[in-house]
Amino acid sequence: MANPQTTTLLAGFAAAIADGSVEVVDLTTPLHAGTPALRLPEPFVNLIDFSLEEVSAYNEPGPFWRHNNIHTGEHIGTHLDAPVHWITGRDGDDVSQIPVRRLIGTASVIDLTEQVAADPDHLLGVADVEAWEAEHGQLTEGTWLLLRTGWESRGGSEAEFLNADETGSHTPGVAVDCAHWLATERSITGLGVETVGVDAGLAGGFDPPFPVHHHFLGNDKYGITSLRNLGRLPATGAVLVVSPLPIVGGTGSPSRVLAVIAGAQG
Ligand code: MN
Repeated sequence: MANPQTTTLLAGFAAAIADGSVEVVDLTTPLHAGTPALRLPEPFVNLIDFSLEEVSAYNEPGPFWRHNNIHTGEHIGTHLDAPVHWITGRDGDDVSQIPVRRLIGTASVIDLTEQVAADPDHLLGVADVEAWEAEHGQLTEGTWLLLRTGWESRGGSEAEFLNADETGSHTPGVAVDCAHWLATERSITGLGVETVGVDAGLAGGFDPPFPVHHHFLGNDKYGITSLRNLGRLPATGAVLVVSPLPIVGGTGSPSRVLAVIAGAQG
């Protein structure tokens, strides 16, 4: 038998969503053939973009139904990186093995919008996190750290979103020492970002290369990319729900990411 208090809590939660005192915010980028995706330089090989292939549309191949095949890479659009995505996490969980309990947790939002507007290569540093913690308290166990950068405003154009020139892709991320510190000194579940990947655009040249991937996935933490609407979340107090597909052997999956927040009536 469930604890009556728990039953009351869950019923209250559902009622609060129904009456708007708790609001659900979609943090997911719509998934279509034009959704911006990572473009690795040669000699690396890119994943395919998302596409829909019509199989029937109430016509001869299926007179009463419409259905499509989907074609996509794992790491396309808003998606989750599982530990096995990176060589440092190769013995960790694939996306089907991630404990579902860890996919729901509080959100801790750090706002770097001003710094990134001034410098698209801006990197989150340990001092930024410590300043946030001085105001909001230490990052709690199991929280998702979300980087608000304003980058979502570029999402309508892949060129603007990737912001690449002859020197590389200029998008914000996390400094090497901060990635290591977050992955080892804080019991967070993962990092969520607005950009195409959890590492900065120039992070291939860092030591180690791609430090968020290196340290987070190697320490059983996750990444989520291409988030939107982070500006609607409070710094603390939201609950995140992340829903990757349980692809057996998968290194990641496009995911619907929802935040639950206090509503206007709340
Ligand atoms: Mn990925």
